[in-house]
Amino acid sequence: MAKILIVEDEVKIARFVELELKYEGYEVEIANDGRTGLDMALHSGVDLVLLDIMLPGLSGIEVCRRVRMESEIPIIMLTAKDDVTDKVAGLDMGADDYMTKPFAIEELLARIRVALNRHAKHSAESEAPKKDELSFGKLCLKLGRHSAYFGEEELSLTKKEYELLEYLLKNKNIAVTREQLLNNVWGYEYFGDTNVVDVYIRYLRQKIDDRFGVHVISTVRGVGYIIKDEK
Ligand code: CA
Repeated sequence: MAKILIVEDEVKIARFVELELKYEGYEVEIANDGRTGLDMALHSGVDLVLLDIMLPGLSGIEVCRRVRMESEIPIIMLTAKDDVTDKVAGLDMGADDYMTKPFAIEELLARIRVALNRHAKHSAESEAPKKDELSFGKLCLKLGRHSAYFGEEELSLTKKEYELLEYLLKNKNIAVTREQLLNNVWGYEYFGDTNVVDVYIRYLRQKIDDRFGVHVISTVRGVGYIIKDEK
C-alpha cells in the first residue's frame, strides 16, 4: 500500500487525516514543519505528499517548489482558506491538486487515489510507447486526430466535449471530481461554478449514451464521474 506524508503543523488536523488514511490502509508519515517535510518528501520513500501551505520554517509553496526540482512525486496542497492566489501559486510550483480546509475526507481520499493512479500510469507511460487510441466498448478516441468514433461512425463533439471524454477515458475506472475535471479540461484559470461540468457531461450523454443506447459515463454520488469497465 502507498505511503503518504502529511506535512501539517496543526496537530489535530494531521492526526485526523492520519487516522482516516490508516483506516483506508495507507502507511502514514507526519512532518509538523516545512523543513522536516521537505526532507521527508525527498528521502523517506513516500508515494504522495499532502502539503499544508501555512507552515513554520518553510512555506508549503516553497517546499513544493524544492521537491519538484528533484522529484515527480504527487503533491496535494491543503489551503486553509479559499485563497485563489495560494492555489495558483501551488499549482504553478507543480502541485498536482489542492484542497481547501475544511474538506470532506471522502473527497480527499478520492483525490489521493486519482493522484497516485495518474502518477503510476504516467511512470508506466514514459517507459511504454504512447498509445494513439483510447477505447471503451465501441467508443474509440483517435488521440492524434482529436476525433471520437462509435463503431464506424464519427461523433460530432466540440473541443471541450472531446477533451472531457478523453480525460475521463484516460482515468478509466477512477472516480474523477468536478474540480479535477475543471482544472484539467478547462484549465486552472477557470474559477467559476462546477455546474459547467454537469452541463458538458449531459451533452456527452446525449451524443453517446442516448444516441446509441449505451451507458458510458456514470455518476459517482458525492464525488463526480467515472467511466467504468463492467465487472
Ligand atoms: Ca498550517
